[in-house]
Amino acid sequence: MKEFELINHYFKGRGITRRDVELGIGDDCALVSVPAGNQLAVTTDTLVAGVHFFEDIPPRALGHRVIAVNLSDLAAMGAEPTWVSLGLTLPKADMEWLEAFTEGMHEIAEYYNVQVIGGDTTQGPLTITVCAKGIVPTGKALKRSGARVGDWIYVTGPLGDAGLAIEARKQGWTLEPKHYKAALEKFHYPAPRVAAGQVLRGLATSAIDISDGLLADLKHILRSSLVGAKINADKVPQSDALRSSLDEDARMKLALGFGDDYELLFTVNDNNKNAVETRLKQYGVEPVCIGQITANNGEIQLLKKGQPYQLSGLGFEHFS
Ligand code: ADP
Ligand code: MG
Repeated sequence: MKEFELINHYFKGRGITRRDVELGIGDDCALVSVPAGNQLAVTTDTLVAGVHFFEDIPPRALGHRVIAVNLSDLAAMGAEPTWVSLGLTLPKADMEWLEAFTEGMHEIAEYYNVQVIGGDTTQGPLTITVCAKGIVPTGKALKRSGARVGDWIYVTGPLGDAGLAIEARKQGWTLEPKHYKAALEKFHYPAPRVAAGQVLRGLATSAIDISDGLLADLKHILRSSLVGAKINADKVPQSDALRSSLDEDARMKLALGFGDDYELLFTVNDNNKNAVETRLKQYGVEPVCIGQITANNGEIQLLKKGQPYQLSGLGFEHFS
């Protein structure tokens, strides 16, 4: 199958059609309209085989995941996702693989009313880059820089499941099959917090999605906002699968340090604390308060049952 045949078969005319897309796949560029009073939010994330996923990942999961991680960045800004483009580098044109991959991609795109408006297809080591676009009312985006001393720190759901799935495989841990399956499902099919992000607009003072690990991503907020934080490690929510699988220190390392779960981390001032909890619950999200912003510039004070708590070897950074 040649490149243009492949594009025509798997991408052109598939997925949803939005009214704000004047020109989708098929020309040199796509043409879209940003509604008046809104800003365009743009983000890109790349997944590389062997770095971000095991080569034998089910292709449907990969299609889902690459869209999900990009929509998660839009969610963290409070943006509504609208369009994506896809840079696809494939070792070969494997039809069965492509069918499942595009199915996974189009399923989640349709669910969030997102149109695939273009991309590029090349041959090489399996690498997938998505550029996701969204819209956000002008001036209303949630940034990393708005956290203030005294703000409460929240996460939108349990952390550490993706880490459990990946480390179990890498380290050869034997988990109870149902726990391994549950954790792997969370890694393969993360649910970006798209509705939560939009609910938080005008309520949260800052937000970020947890891709590199709770503490690593919290640090980004602290650096941008010039503040510190105290975190009650024992309050960080953990799934049944995680709690049943590992001892406390090992679980904490995954929940606080691993990332890849794509929950949101956000701050809210005391006045909006109740409103945030009520509004998020209306959208099926159970936010958990895990700490508070302090004046200790850039520093995270980790506590367990109110006492200082030490954990080493946390967070993931490329080129480190
Ligand atoms: P050009 O050479 O002008 O860049 P291409 O032949 O690369 O055009 O692509 C033709 C059309 O197909 C373009 O509209 C492009 O956006 C789209 N396209 C190419 N690859 C993909 C892909 N993997 N997913 C979605 N659209 C794609
Ligand atoms: Mg091209």
